[in-house]
Amino acid sequence: MTSQNNNSDYIPLGSRPIDRAGHHRTDTAWLEAAFARDDVLVLMLHKGLPLVSPAGGLVWLGPEAAKVAPDARRLFLGLDRNDTPIFALGLPDGFELEGSLIAGTGEFMDFRMAIGKLGELEMNLASTARSIFEWHKSHRFCARCGAESDSTEAGWKRICPECSAEHFPRTDPVAIMLAVSGDKCLLGRQKMWPQGMWSCLAGFIEPGETLEQGAARELHEEAGILCHPANAEYLFCQPWPFPSSLMIGMLLPAENEDITIDPHELEAARWVTRQEARDILAGEHPEIFAPPPFAVAHHILKEWAERDS
Ligand SMILES: [Zn+2]
Repeated sequence: MTSQNNNSDYIPLGSRPIDRAGHHRTDTAWLEAAFARDDVLVLMLHKGLPLVSPAGGLVWLGPEAAKVAPDARRLFLGLDRNDTPIFALGLPDGFELEGSLIAGTGEFMDFRMAIGKLGELEMNLASTARSIFEWHKSHRFCARCGAESDSTEAGWKRICPECSAEHFPRTDPVAIMLAVSGDKCLLGRQKMWPQGMWSCLAGFIEPGETLEQGAARELHEEAGILCHPANAEYLFCQPWPFPSSLMIGMLLPAENEDITIDPHELEAARWVTRQEARDILAGEHPEIFAPPPFAVAHHILKEWAERDS
């Protein structure tokens, strides 16, 4: 697999991470002291939605966060560049904003609505917390023995009190790719998408598969396009915590152009020229528009469209 850029720093959700300071996760005394510090920064989520201030930006609490909800889940996210500890609080489903300590500070907002209101770092932190909290909710019980497991290591692990099995938050690799043939690239669309939106093809990597093999398999299964995995070019990736994917962007030179779609996966697929791709991204194509810049597919198409050849 070749790679020219492999720079994910400007991809939404993945950009500007903090120091996760994982060595503190096992130090309960340090974590307690950090959460009580005057300068601690605590963001909040409820049912996977971040608390966003009316002026824009996340609502940040200090040590008073400990009093918001006694049964809230606590996650240590790391240290910012001033070594300030950053935590996330997962409020219980039954939490009522009205009448709470944080009433009037903001509203719990869907991530797509929060785009443009949150900075890159805030998007990264809130989406990381969302992914972890959703994982706790759906992995309460030990997958080995069925006993209820306990959260440990500042929220980054679950351990089973019965059989001692350790469970770690999952990240599912998804290949998202453009097949390219000379001056053309392949776009597809799914029935459920907004009318006119076309995008890269994508699919989950299966056990025993490399990224390149998974990408080539998906292109063949969904569109009948043959690609040699060894020719895949890695571009960049994006954490996509809805609930726990890592989108891995690639270009794959196609060996044929005859499209045979799998109607269970795609409604249609078509080749577009580089000029068309540029028009699509500029919002000037008569039929097609691209996914928004929030999505890595947008950046994959842009990366290819802006190349000379
Ligand atoms: Zn167990």
